[in-house]
Amino acid sequence: MKVIDHINQAKKPIFSFEILPPLKGQNIKAIYDSIDPLMEFKPPFVNVTYHREEVVYKRHDSGLLEQKTIKKRPGTVGICAAIQNKYKIDAVPHILCGGFSKEDTENALIDLDFLGIENVLALRGDSIKGETYFVPEKSGHKYAADLVGQIKAMNSGEYLDDELQNTTPTNFCVGVAGYPEKHFEAPSLNNDIKWTKAKVDAGAEYIITQLFFDNQKYFDYVRRCREAGITVPIIPGIKPIATKKHLSVLPHFFHVDLPDDLVKSVVDCKDNKDVRQVGIEWAIEQCKELRDAGVPVLHFYSMSKVDNIQAIGKAVF
Ligand code: FAD
Repeated sequence: MKVIDHINQAKKPIFSFEILPPLKGQNIKAIYDSIDPLMEFKPPFVNVTYHREEVVYKRHDSGLLEQKTIKKRPGTVGICAAIQNKYKIDAVPHILCGGFSKEDTENALIDLDFLGIENVLALRGDSIKGETYFVPEKSGHKYAADLVGQIKAMNSGEYLDDELQNTTPTNFCVGVAGYPEKHFEAPSLNNDIKWTKAKVDAGAEYIITQLFFDNQKYFDYVRRCREAGITVPIIPGIKPIATKKHLSVLPHFFHVDLPDDLVKSVVDCKDNKDVRQVGIEWAIEQCKELRDAGVPVLHFYSMSKVDNIQAIGKAVF
């Protein structure tokens, strides 16, 4: 079933979460271990991230450096199929512009369609190490809106080869990303919202936000999106802070601010066990306020460690 139908049919906020494929060499049990404890909250869908290739350097005994391109977290599509098969819930694979030509995208979507996967989250992806800015594949998409356009074209039976006849349309529900604190490359929040609207105009049916710790930023973002003419559901993304290191890691990688009260509480913690508890309590307050404001879904970035998400779920759902 499509995410948008889950949202439209829900009588109360939905619990959903995002997982990462395990590092190469681990097995599917790592995934099940991160899903099983959260099934009590009846998530109708689970997102699975996609991770691009990375460039790494291996130093040989001779001192020479060998450049290697590796994928540390492969398996998104297989994990989605396994989730749908085992839990009978919908899996939402993330699909990127980066690293994909349009032909690669088309073939990936054909695989997903054959596997009975009806949802995708369409993203541009980030630059890979060594690139300052995002560089699309030679015949790939530069922006997520263009990727949404390709998926919607396939939903109308239009494939890249226009000589194909009697094609079967795919039937994907497409979600996209939104940034309450602005995408880091955008010159202003209004400019970023303008391009987010372009994704919706291209056919995206809902938006999932970047994580945030200050609900006011989400509420302001939703208001500004509505003023800009975006009418689709805007799903808040929640991540409980869990370690002292997150104080620098989260702003660095996700370009978000942490409220001073939260920073102070984390700094005052004697160890990461305490930080985890502070993160749980902060997220519970955030989620209760969002729930009471009538958000359609509370979407958790579990990073595949779930004891804290479970504690939040018990307090909120
Ligand atoms: P876009 O919507 O294409 O926007 C990128 C930038 O370009 C923005 O600054 C936007 O304002 C600007 N822009 C857009 N269109 C135009 C235009 N026509 N002209 C000029 N400027 C324009 N990354 C992964 O690698 N794997 C994942 O699984 C993954 N999952 C994510 C899930 C969520 C919910 C979120 C919020 C992010 C996720 N990301 C993931 C990160 C994402 O790939 C990066 O944030 C990326 O830098 C931007 O992706 P986007 O789809 O928002 O890009």
